[in-house]
Amino acid sequence: MVTNEMKKTSVLSGIGVSPGIISGKAYLFNCPDFQTPYYKLKTNTLVSNEVKRFKKALKDSGQELLDIKEKISNKEGIDPIFLDVHIMILKDRMFVRETVENIREQRINSEWALKLTLSKYREIFRKMEDEYLRERINDVEYVGDRILRNLSGKTCESISEIDEEIIIIARDLSPADTVQINVEKVLGFATDIGGKTSHTAIIARSVEIPAVVGLENITNEVQTGDRVIVDGTAGVVIINPDPEILKRYEDKKKHYEVMAEDLIKDASLPAITMDNHRIDIGANIEFIEEIPSAVSHGTDGVGLYRTEFIYINKEQLPTEEEHFSSYKRVVEGDGVKWSTIRTFDLGGDKFVSDARLAEEMNPAMGLRGIRFCLHEVELFKVQLRAILRASAYGKTKILFPMISGVAEIQEAKKILREVKHDLSAEGIPIDENIEIGIMIEVPSAVMMADKLAEEVDFFSIGTNDLIQYSLAIDRVNERVTYLYEPLHPAILRLIKLVVEAGHNAGIKVAMCGEMAGESAYSLILLGLGLDELSMTPLAIPRVKKIIRGSTLKESRELLDRAMTFSTFREIEEYVRRHMIKRFPDDFPLSDQ
Ligand code: PEP
Ligand code: MG
Repeated sequence: MVTNEMKKTSVLSGIGVSPGIISGKAYLFNCPDFQTPYYKLKTNTLVSNEVKRFKKALKDSGQELLDIKEKISNKEGIDPIFLDVHIMILKDRMFVRETVENIREQRINSEWALKLTLSKYREIFRKMEDEYLRERINDVEYVGDRILRNLSGKTCESISEIDEEIIIIARDLSPADTVQINVEKVLGFATDIGGKTSHTAIIARSVEIPAVVGLENITNEVQTGDRVIVDGTAGVVIINPDPEILKRYEDKKKHYEVMAEDLIKDASLPAITMDNHRIDIGANIEFIEEIPSAVSHGTDGVGLYRTEFIYINKEQLPTEEEHFSSYKRVVEGDGVKWSTIRTFDLGGDKFVSDARLAEEMNPAMGLRGIRFCLHEVELFKVQLRAILRASAYGKTKILFPMISGVAEIQEAKKILREVKHDLSAEGIPIDENIEIGIMIEVPSAVMMADKLAEEVDFFSIGTNDLIQYSLAIDRVNERVTYLYEPLHPAILRLIKLVVEAGHNAGIKVAMCGEMAGESAYSLILLGLGLDELSMTPLAIPRVKKIIRGSTLKESRELLDRAMTFSTFREIEEYVRRHMIKRFPDDFPLSDQ
């Protein structure tokens, strides 16, 4: 479990220019960086030779562009118009004349003369109002780079020759580089510089490979061979993801692949049934960088912030300030109406590098979640202080994981009260009425739900663990995944008990396990009476669409009938048939 040999996970955020999620081996694509030489030309002969040298570099550059054009002529989906634009720039009278005049009048070498022309162009473009036009300076720069390379005689690595499956990491990719990418091999790319409307971005979109640009410094953070995840939808790149993160991104990828564009269009509409019953929709996030994507996929708030990811692969425990700045950014996130911050659920399947979490025989049943926090009170208090401080900046709810009985939540609340008291004494503002909730993910908590409901403001059902513990199947053991059955009658009964206990006590019941994002189950969950569903952001649009197309009445009828069956198979079959009939576009028969 302790992952000392693993490289540190880091997350970079940039501009997602081509949607999709991909993980793979990084390849640092290098073009030699060369200093622009400067020298004076002493004789007239040298000056006229220099003009010839410049014109030859122009010609060679033009030929290269024509070659690329020829090479890609039968590539589908690519509009090579930018190549014509680049060829036009090469021939642009002002561009050429300006540089030649610099050579002649200042008696300087071509490289320097070109550099002066480029800075003049940069100045002209910088003043343009229109963003699209302003970004066209990039085309001039790419052409300038090409001419400079030809003048220097140095060649760049050829991108078209890459023939293993990799993700390209580069300072920048010119559109001419991008267009030559072999999309069978290059899975995605990430660059230090670039903008949304650059040709590079446009090409990435047209060849449908995920891409993130404007990451500023990724070329210094990544080495060839490192594993990276490129999330072009959220504009995030994760370097050396640990196995838990990798798994979550595999799930996200699956959701992305089944999502149609028209779903996104309606994503911001509320999740209200045709008979006017509203469900709150939350997003499960692991990183702050995911928030903009969660909002654009239609979330109301953050339904589960898995804070243990702040710890993963860190050598030092995060400080209160580090916690606070993360939580503040979440609760203040644009478009985020409320945020449920879960205290850390370290241990179990969440890998950590903290040696204090000694290797355990059976980590899922070990010192994890709230047990660990109640054991390491000082560490717990650091996090609670930070969450409470953030609560002064936006609607915050606090969520305790792995509660197995009343004593644990009472103990956690006692510590929370102490922390609140300390903060008040220090005059630090907090939301005094911050809502407190618990995860219901241990079967004993289900059985005690009526008593637990008296202690808290809300429940959030964690089906990932609830299924694991109830059906006795290790959630990370591939050999038993076939037994992982969310629609198992026992699971439906457990959820029903929790919702009833919560509602009898007048508190809301959410669900934040993966089951909540499974659109085939949306009607069953509606029928079960859940007040909030929180899920991976990419699952939101479809779940909302299903809810908007249903009635509470039909969902209750579906549930009542489903609950009469004794096996998972029967329920699954019955629910599937209903969903295919009711939502044929979303559940085509071929999916079976
Ligand atoms: C769950 O157990 O369902 C849950 C949401 O928590 P996690 O997946 O982080 O254990
Ligand atoms: Mg859990």
